[in-house]
Amino acid sequence: RYNFNPGPAALPLDVLEEAQQQFIDYEGKGISLLEMSHRSRTVEEMNHETQTLLLSLLDLPKGYEVLFMGGGASTQFALLPMNFLAPHLTANYVLTGSFAEKAYKEASYLGRTHVAASSKEQGWRGIPDLGTKDLSRDAAYVHITMNNTIEGSRYAEIPEVGDTPLVGDMTSEILSRKLDLQKFSMFYAGAQKNLGPAGVTVVVIRESWLEQASKEIPEIMRYSTFATNKSLFNTPPVHAIYMTNLVLKWAHNQGGVKQLERRNLAKAGLIYDVIDASSGFYQGIIDPKDRSPMNITWRLGNEELERRFILESETHGFEGLAGHRSVGGLRASAYNAVPDEACQALAAFMLDFARRNG
Ligand code: PLP
Repeated sequence: RYNFNPGPAALPLDVLEEAQQQFIDYEGKGISLLEMSHRSRTVEEMNHETQTLLLSLLDLPKGYEVLFMGGGASTQFALLPMNFLAPHLTANYVLTGSFAEKAYKEASYLGRTHVAASSKEQGWRGIPDLGTKDLSRDAAYVHITMNNTIEGSRYAEIPEVGDTPLVGDMTSEILSRKLDLQKFSMFYAGAQKNLGPAGVTVVVIRESWLEQASKEIPEIMRYSTFATNKSLFNTPPVHAIYMTNLVLKWAHNQGGVKQLERRNLAKAGLIYDVIDASSGFYQGIIDPKDRSPMNITWRLGNEELERRFILESETHGFEGLAGHRSVGGLRASAYNAVPDEACQALAAFMLDFARRNG
């Protein structure tokens, strides 16, 4: 089947096959990775290799730590302000969709917050302008959601925020295109889109910023605890990290992020082209300059037609095309592991559906 699920999302077939082969007897050790101590040399090495692979694929120099944490990206919404929102500072948030809003709401329980910019009034149809003038005084950081999974928008470029530390939710963005990630003091991503299975959340943080984190919160909530202990302070989600390891090797073998970006643009282009050439039969939701190549969202003339589209798509082998329940419409999530032919097949199906129902 063609898997366009928004997350947990498609994984490369090679990765699933490799994991299957290793499942019972991991690298000839006679037991499964699931049964192995996280203190064993085997797991320690795999953990370290995964951290190094990620930094290398993201093209980050020394001075950044990769942390593997639990609790999903949503837990980062709370951990970020716990670690960095000191009482005399204000956390700045850019609201571009419902996950951005959730991040803002969690911070508001913990300290002073400020909405630096928002596209809510515009129905989340794009990314608002953001400049240093929009930020509060004494800003602890500014948080952005680089790609908005539900709405289908993304920042064309990383915004310039002067000296204020920039923090990014990269859950549906990471490894999808080449960016100068050194502009971020920290970013995080739930693995279940471009990195691997649900269960591990990746945090990448600049060491010099980490030094400024609170030392008054419980140790298990501190980024520094995870950094100091190489993410082995407590039992990590070992198997999810292993699957991420395989996905990173796959991404490397695909030619790295630049190649993936090229393919992603071509894949998404096939679908956006059908939308744009459909004379209004399909209506793209997002301002074209802010469209995401990862999550492509559109509507049809009425909900009855949208229901028919979803039902028919399912019988034609397409999975996961219904829009998020909060917004309706249609959404195709074309992450890195979605093959070119899935997008070609979807574009052909959309053309055919429009011909029959237009
Ligand atoms: N942020 C973004 C951009 C997301 O797409 C998601 C989930 O889809 C989340 C945060 C929440 O992630 P989790 O379910 O891992 O908590």
